[in-house]
Amino acid sequence: MPYVGRFAPSPTGPLHAGSLVAALASWLDARAHGGRWLLRIEDVDGPRCPPGAAELIQQQLSQCGLLADAPPLWQSQRGDLYAQALSRLQHAGWAYPCACTRAEIALMQKQSPQRHGELVYPGSCRHGLQGRPARAWRLLSTADLQARQDLQIDWFDRRLGAQTQNLSQAVGDFVLKRADGLWAYQLAVVVDDAEQGITDVVRGQDLAENTPRQIRLQELLGLPRPRYLHTPLVLGENGEKLSKQNGAAALDLREPAAALRTAASHLGLQVHATQLGDVLAQALNAWRGFMMPASPSLLPRDGSALKE
Ligand code: GLU
Repeated sequence: MPYVGRFAPSPTGPLHAGSLVAALASWLDARAHGGRWLLRIEDVDGPRCPPGAAELIQQQLSQCGLLADAPPLWQSQRGDLYAQALSRLQHAGWAYPCACTRAEIALMQKQSPQRHGELVYPGSCRHGLQGRPARAWRLLSTADLQARQDLQIDWFDRRLGAQTQNLSQAVGDFVLKRADGLWAYQLAVVVDDAEQGITDVVRGQDLAENTPRQIRLQELLGLPRPRYLHTPLVLGENGEKLSKQNGAAALDLREPAAALRTAASHLGLQVHATQLGDVLAQALNAWRGFMMPASPSLLPRDGSALKE
């Protein structure tokens, strides 16, 4: 199957050092496979996306020579497709409405601490809304519609190796459409990856724990499962993941070659060139050297190819 990769930033602010690493890795992997590289603007959460941020990201990418093979796709324009996917899950009985408020969920979790931390929804609305109005839609995270059996998802990451997650216990019934009417990232990403024909998802490791949710949605919607590669995170001085939320500085792109060299070295790639085109070419050679081919069976299972 011809390789199709993508970079899918949420335009909550400009690119920072961490997002450039993910962008570069996905670009390198696509180019190394002679594939296409697409850009998707994940602006489903409109209120968190300041005007102009998406355009700024595109400008930053082109300053770095990371040019997509097609015009970007904007998630804010694709609500109809997400609605169709939700409707299929509703008809099959896998999606159910939820009337719980955040405060109610927090309270229930206090009362039943054995239910695995704050991320797990206790499933109160699985058996109906008891006359209360629906707020959100959730996916039943169990193996069967009777919710008798936990569901374990096994998957392979080209860097991290074999992964497993008990979706029912670790995540629970997750949201597909939020109480404020916005589409959840999990649903939008799965619909769009399939619709864009993405064969390879290359993104930051912070997103790895979302992968089982996305794989479950792919299974239920009858969509193909792409290969996955999660790249090492860039940590800030406080040891936390760099993110727009914790105030990561926008990239200084007065010297895009230098920014790319830093991103490449974070991926464990030796790059010494000073001209932008040469930096990309050297990084591509180095990537070919240890991340090819994308076939899982041929890569080290411990993911030692990329440095931590
Ligand atoms: N939009 C997500 C983010 O910026 C990335 C989604 C993905 O690559 O699957 O964190």
